[in-house]
Amino acid sequence: MSGRLVVISGPSGAGKTSVCRALKRLPDVEFSVSATTRPMRDREENGIDYHFLTKPDFEARVERGEFLEWADYNGKLYGTLRAPMEAALARGRIYLLEIEVAGTRQLRECDTDGLYVFIEPPSIDELRQRLVRRGSNAAEEIEQRVRIAADEIAAARGEVAGRPLYDHFVVNADLDATIARVTELIRS
Ligand code: 5GP
Repeated sequence: MSGRLVVISGPSGAGKTSVCRALKRLPDVEFSVSATTRPMRDREENGIDYHFLTKPDFEARVERGEFLEWADYNGKLYGTLRAPMEAALARGRIYLLEIEVAGTRQLRECDTDGLYVFIEPPSIDELRQRLVRRGSNAAEEIEQRVRIAADEIAAARGEVAGRPLYDHFVVNADLDATIARVTELIRS
């Protein structure tokens, strides 16, 4: 039996992480633990949230072809390890990747089979308000995140060989409705 790859992307503040957290609870879903060279944040665990690697270790793995895709995001490297994904798909599991748009582009360029979903905020204004309400960023940083988000939303509209990068764009106006919609897409 072979499983299904599901790619979820979306800018910071769109609710992507909350959606993925809910999907992880489904019994047939397995979540890809990416490798990264960024420092560990408070409450994160090595091997659970990410495999935290040094840059030389990450680069050696790139050389050995261990990554399905990898990208530089904000000066740090992030990548999806190939072996655990192949094992999960061989077991018939739904394998969830939470990756940014450049990684999705690489998967599409290799014609990787899967369901590709982009989660976005109702509007840039709403995204800005959510970041302000979160209260954890300075005003300048909020504007920086808003700019990155706008760029990601535009890049997500791109194409590879005449095919759209994403199969579905889900506007997250209500978290429960978004989770229900993405679950339905995964099951379809
Ligand atoms: P963060 O540092 O906030 O955890 O993640 C930053 C960005 O990197 C997010 O957009 C996240 O989806 C993306 N990301 C996480 N893991 C991977 C990965 O394995 N590959 C790619 N291409 N992007 C990733």
